[in-house]
Amino acid sequence: MARCTKCQMEWTFKDKARTLKTLDGSAKCPYCGEKQHISLKSKRQGSMLSMVVPLAMFVPIFFDTPIMIHIAIGLIAVVIVILLQISLIELSRKEEFPI
Ligand SMILES: [Zn+2]
Repeated sequence: MARCTKCQMEWTFKDKARTLKTLDGSAKCPYCGEKQHISLKSKRQGSMLSMVVPLAMFVPIFFDTPIMIHIAIGLIAVVIVILLQISLIELSRKEEFPI
């Protein structure tokens, strides 16, 4: 669950999706206007999840499937990964960097 660090209001899926559209992964809280960032933990989980996409696209090679199936699986994986990334987002008061 993502809660604003200032007003403790819970962000909706749509609110969280807005943080992905910005380059630095931040968005203003729709309830109090405070700037919130994606936490480092969520960023890490997000990059781990993105690795699923190439895997999902290459695994069917071993099963001799047509290229259209690969593309379809890849697209489905991208959509699932984006949805998961958004639902896993947690908020942080300031931008966090890996040390
Ligand atoms: Zn807030």
